[in-house]
Amino acid sequence: MIHLLPDYIANQIAAGEVVQRPASALKELLENAIDAGATAVTVALTDAGRTLLQVVDNGCGMNATDARMSFERHATSKIARIDDLNAISTFGFRGEALASIAAVADVELKTRRADEETGTCIRISASEVTEQEPVACAAGTSIAVRNLFFNVPARRRFLKSDSVELRHAVVELQRVALCHPAVSFRLLHNSSELYNLPATHLRQRILHLAGKDMNQQLIDVQVDTAVVQVKGFTGKPESAKRTAGDQYFFVNGRFFRSPYFQKAVFNAYRQLLPPDRAYPSFYLYFTLPPEKIDVNIHPAKIEIKFEDEPIIFQILHASVREALGKFAVVPSIDFDTDGAPSIPVPRKNDPPATPPQVRIDPFFNPFEEEKKTVVSRQPAADGAPVKNWQKLYDGLPHNTAFDPDAPAAGDSEPAPALLPTAPAERPLLQLKGRYILTAVKSGLMLIDRRRAQQRILYERFLKNLTHPLQDAQQDIFPQTVTLSPVDYTLFETVADDLKQIGYDIRPFGNHTVVINGQPASTPVIDAAQLMDDLLASLHENAGGLTLQRQEKLALAMAKAAAGNTRDPLTALEAQALIDGLFSCDEPSLSPEGKPTLQIITMEELDRRFLKG
Ligand code: ADP
Ligand code: MG
Repeated sequence: MIHLLPDYIANQIAAGEVVQRPASALKELLENAIDAGATAVTVALTDAGRTLLQVVDNGCGMNATDARMSFERHATSKIARIDDLNAISTFGFRGEALASIAAVADVELKTRRADEETGTCIRISASEVTEQEPVACAAGTSIAVRNLFFNVPARRRFLKSDSVELRHAVVELQRVALCHPAVSFRLLHNSSELYNLPATHLRQRILHLAGKDMNQQLIDVQVDTAVVQVKGFTGKPESAKRTAGDQYFFVNGRFFRSPYFQKAVFNAYRQLLPPDRAYPSFYLYFTLPPEKIDVNIHPAKIEIKFEDEPIIFQILHASVREALGKFAVVPSIDFDTDGAPSIPVPRKNDPPATPPQVRIDPFFNPFEEEKKTVVSRQPAADGAPVKNWQKLYDGLPHNTAFDPDAPAAGDSEPAPALLPTAPAERPLLQLKGRYILTAVKSGLMLIDRRRAQQRILYERFLKNLTHPLQDAQQDIFPQTVTLSPVDYTLFETVADDLKQIGYDIRPFGNHTVVINGQPASTPVIDAAQLMDDLLASLHENAGGLTLQRQEKLALAMAKAAAGNTRDPLTALEAQALIDGLFSCDEPSLSPEGKPTLQIITMEELDRRFLKG
């Protein structure tokens, strides 16, 4: 009853492991090109690789026999004896990649050795060779993979949007490019050029990929021990990002992922990173004898086993820490002024303090239409939602200053909520630049400043996107930002919408954009940071979210534009923020559904004091 699986089935099964998506096929083809000694590699993708994925190299090429053999399973020129397995330093080592790819696509191989006159062309579809003939072609190898997964519909359906698949492909290309700065790489997508990386040295290659702004940010790391040699660069703390991205480990010319080693690096940054920016960039290259590592766990896996992991952890941590220290980025200890709410502290020679003149309008009702003018640029949300929120404040003045049931006191005019007085100022307290505290009817309300800001901007941007009217714009000092090619493509897809929202951002050539204006009364923030946050957020959302496109963009932009500053707001700004929040349709939640505010009730407070 036992029989051998036919080759094409065995290949398809293997393909399931080796080729998950266009990017994994690309990785294999790139590694083959490098193994073949190529110095120039061009990648062309159509529809992020699902329609066409082609890799052209100028490496050693193959003769007719090898060309045919290369598609056989376990056909490899790289292992002849079992000993080789342990000392292997090339990438491919199982002879499975081409066979697997050819099992799930239409593949066309054209290859020629430099010392031969004619080359070979082989067409193969779902493991079936359909054509083999001599051709005239350039020395080297070109492999074109068409209609990936055409015979595995489940896999094909599993693929994500083009932008996600493209992103994966670019990640693979970057990893290879970062290991081989002396090899030039070009990447074309739907016939526009995303990357053109000339042959160069490592630092320059990193700058080509990460943007030249990183030039000031890269710190050399170099350490040579008996166990491992570590070389490369690590980013200054101020260049750390909010999302993971440029964290690279390589060992003997191969990218690998290691949460464990990553921790060693991140620990070295302890206390140095700006708030909320937890991901410093690093590019670290390990060299150690091949027999000390096990790369042969799984062909597609990028985890690697090291013999001396804890020792390498220590070495890594120390060398990054030392590098940071050398460049004096490890600061002297700063006194933590954080604990206190932002109330100005009187200095010795200050003139005697005058008691603060707080104008309180005990009858202020923030939801009264006429008074809206003070603050929010938004039209008051009409109707119901506001009414609910009104309850928050209703009666507050009554509890403190005015009791409608009590006999009117003296000469005060008991006409609640109708006094045509100056703009109301509710006493507001700011805490660490993050929270705004104020009294409400039921107790103490704490507002998360950033989330509130996000909510306000989100609703406003969404309105701008869905209605033709444009928000007023304010000119800002023009700032240019250079984007990576992929980010630039992503930017182009949202450029029109950004204009609609009120951002004046124009292309400036060479993947650079210039920001001339932003919607009136958005917080002033660093343009580079704004773009960085916007793109990170778009990338994050590019995948699973089922939001409408406009919601996605409004969300990304709101998060970016709300920024992350902790500088205290002026009293007026804080007031504006609160009023803006409560004229939103959904004031209690951030656009991502997290609470914007908390109320500590009187009962809770009382309970606390009872305990004491
Ligand atoms: P592996 O790389 O593990 O050997 P592959 O299936 O990726 O297995 O490739 C099979 C063989 O085909 C390689 O060992 C190599 O001899 C040959 N080959 C593949 N790609 C190229 C290329 N771009 N240039 C030259 N030879 C290649
Ligand atoms: Mg290979």
